[in-house]
Amino acid sequence: MDILIKEAVDIIKKSEFTFAFTGAGISVESGIPPFRGKHGLWNKYDPKILELGYYLNNHEKCWVHIREIFYDFFSDAKPNDAHIVLAEMEKKGYLKSIVTQNIDNLHYEAGSKVVHEFHGNAKKLKCLKCGTHYNSSEIDFNNIPPRCKNDGEILKPDFIFFGEGIPPDAYKKSFANAEQAKVCIIVGSTGEVTPASFVPRTAKQNGAIIIEINPEESMFTNTITDIYLKGRAGEVLKKLGDYLFNNPA
Ligand code: NAD
Repeated sequence: MDILIKEAVDIIKKSEFTFAFTGAGISVESGIPPFRGKHGLWNKYDPKILELGYYLNNHEKCWVHIREIFYDFFSDAKPNDAHIVLAEMEKKGYLKSIVTQNIDNLHYEAGSKVVHEFHGNAKKLKCLKCGTHYNSSEIDFNNIPPRCKNDGEILKPDFIFFGEGIPPDAYKKSFANAEQAKVCIIVGSTGEVTPASFVPRTAKQNGAIIIEINPEESMFTNTITDIYLKGRAGEVLKKLGDYLFNNPA
């Protein structure tokens, strides 16, 4: 493993354009479970609560679960070593950006500046009628569903539900990154969610080297991955960061 990490570091050092593509797995060590897999949230909750059509007709019911998942679990989570190393890599000039499928805001909390949130962000809520945005810290989650102060309309978390399109700006910038990249570091993604999974695939088609970090093989591992660093995001990125920052030349 250490040899592979050193190989990855050498590639990153030589690369003019490296970006990271992150999925739910990077936040597991922060205490946020992924949706899929053995300990995934979909074993406990019905994914229907995040289907736009169902949500619009069942606000009250859906909000009970949405509050529990996204505003009780998520709000206590803090960035882990993996988020912190990626932020440090950006600061030191080794990483241009992060394309994340996550909605937990942890990359920003770790200090990353260029983050393309492919699926939006749970820390914001919006009124579907007047478009006003609210920060989750302004909301009293004892009274759900939360309502817009302007028109009393029910607020929706500002991440995409099943059946909604990708935010256009994040979509455009993510694929622009993928086309330019020389290296893409995939962290903690099954690769099952489309169109997000097309981002690293586009990078590969455009000649990028793919480094993947995940304790389990994903749909990327045997298709586009060049260097597979098997392990937990925090542990592997901590080692990679230590090696990269202590051997910068
Ligand atoms: P996923 O839930 O489909 O898969 C998670 C992946 O993480 C798996 O491949 C698993 O092997 C890996 N993993 C588990 N523990 C890990 C660890 N410690 N380090 C590294 N990898 C680890 O995730 P996905 O492919 O990202 O798709 C789910 C979708 O659900 C995402 O698009 C995202 O929008 C959303 N989601 C977000 C969050 C969040 O914001 N933290 C949490 C759950 C789901």
